Amino acid sequence: MSIAENLNGLKAELPDHVELIAVSKTHPAEKVMEAYDTGHRHFGENKVQEMVAKSETMPSDIRWHLIGHLQRNKVKYIAPFVHLIHGVDSLKLLKEINKRAKQNERVIDCLIQVFIAKEDTKFGMDEKEVRTFIASTELQELEHIRVVGLMGMATNTDNTDQIKSEFKGLKQLFEDIKASDTPKHVEMNHLSMGMSGDYKLAIECGSTMVRVGSAIFGARNYPTNG
Ligand SMILES: *Cc1c(COP(=O)(O)O)cnc(C)c1O
Repeated sequence: MSIAENLNGLKAELPDHVELIAVSKTHPAEKVMEAYDTGHRHFGENKVQEMVAKSETMPSDIRWHLIGHLQRNKVKYIAPFVHLIHGVDSLKLLKEINKRAKQNERVIDCLIQVFIAKEDTKFGMDEKEVRTFIASTELQELEHIRVVGLMGMATNTDNTDQIKSEFKGLKQLFEDIKASDTPKHVEMNHLSMGMSGDYKLAIECGSTMVRVGSAIFGARNYPTNG
């Protein structure tokens, strides 16, 4: 199937309240344009350099989502145009985003990345850290960011019960924070969970935003050096 067919098929399947981020990392702009030409505008990249390069050659109405781990020294490159940063996992990083957003006279939307997997390779805060973070007075002083939800990645496993329980835990945290008296700059609007292999489970468990790459663009070919 073509990229357009994959994308349209997927969109037809998603409930209305679930937003699709087409993860275009490693795929060249021509391929990404096949998705763009269907009318899709939300794209996700996990490398700053690649996102910047694509944003420079591709149409300016694309909403770019940074979905991977973000290093503080690279925030400045994406601050002028990024739509949503999914992987915020420290106050230090959020402060840097705030500073660069201010320089660009914008407010940047961010999701807090929550560690839900039983693996030590993934970034994020644990539940307790998230709650402390949301309640911190320092967060309230950041006028150029908005925390608009949470993001998480389940363990890479075939055990669907485990994946479900991780997603449900994140959904519960999301609802708890949403129901609490959240400070200024915090609005629980988006719950970003689910990728090609587990987006159906994620939606069942309450996801409002799925990040899907290979199910749209096909397998990724990572360049090997030599
Ligand atoms: C690559 C990536 C995805 C998409 O993965 P697929 O399995 O190709 O759908 C989703 N989220 C993050 C954070 C990623 O890095």
